[in-house]
Amino acid sequence: MPGSENLRICITCGTQFDVSIEDPLKECRMCLDPRQFVPPSGHSFTSLAQMRGTYENQIQQDDIEKRMWSIWTEPNFAIGERAVFLETPEGNVLWDCVANLDQKTVDFIKRKGGLKAMVVSHPHFWTSHLDWAQEFDCPLYLAADEAEWLCREDKEHRIRWIEDITQVIVPGVTAIKLGGHFPGSMVLPWDGKISTADTIAVTLSGLNRELRPPGANSFAFMWAYPNFIPLSPSVLQVMWERLEPFEFSAVHSLFVGRDVRDALIKGEVLDDMKLAATFAGYKNEDHSIFKLKWDDSKAKAAAKSAPVVPSSSIAKPPAQAHLERGF
Ligand SMILES: [Zn+2]
Ligand SMILES: [Zn+2]
Repeated sequence: MPGSENLRICITCGTQFDVSIEDPLKECRMCLDPRQFVPPSGHSFTSLAQMRGTYENQIQQDDIEKRMWSIWTEPNFAIGERAVFLETPEGNVLWDCVANLDQKTVDFIKRKGGLKAMVVSHPHFWTSHLDWAQEFDCPLYLAADEAEWLCREDKEHRIRWIEDITQVIVPGVTAIKLGGHFPGSMVLPWDGKISTADTIAVTLSGLNRELRPPGANSFAFMWAYPNFIPLSPSVLQVMWERLEPFEFSAVHSLFVGRDVRDALIKGEVLDDMKLAATFAGYKNEDHSIFKLKWDDSKAKAAAKSAPVVPSSSIAKPPAQAHLERGF
């Protein structure tokens, strides 16, 4: 393990600081940003050393896409996101990150051949990312737009700052900055599926598409998730225009179990952006987002030749708690 086990980690958001748990740190600057929050109990910190024995990472292979594994921490810690381990022909990629880097996770990833690269969607999930990159001796891709949020010194020069809208992580895996939640918030399309973190969040009604009522959505696009501050239709339009060139039939968002599979799911992303614009008070003639269309011909052709996966065959996530979050 790298020598940062005693560094302070914010209990509310998971950000790791270059400050020892022995030394004072009054505030977590990430939690003081309006996209996060300070709980009624105030700022509080732990360290990787203190977490050991109490927290354990869970590692679960996806039911359908066997080359994809979710890694998350139990009991729930900080924001509670998952990291996603992808096995690609060009090497393993870690999408997103959790603060708790435990021996079980290190052993699993090393057994699988280590990491070719890491890419983390936005600063809320940076957490202990530099420890991970050091442990697995790999480059760490982050949006340059968010450099101000780095809370540790990159002593080993692991970080590759992404300046452009798209960045090839390994051949076949390209990160796209859609923006919105953060100016450089990313998604990761890969082999017909897309990991979206909370750049595009899968909603609770999106998980049961058979029984949900008309008018419900599958996706939410927020500037501040815990504080429910939405994005404007103009920002959503830019996000769609950047997403539009990439085809996918599965969306995997920030929490384990927040997965939606449907040959035509991409169209629903646009529909839900228009729904958000409607609730923001816009009508058809008021905003150009309503004129956007998705050409579904390629997806329909692909669906015809692909085997149908009934939703009942998709296993439920292991922890119901992950489905009961507020967002
Ligand atoms: Zn924090
Ligand atoms: Zn976030």
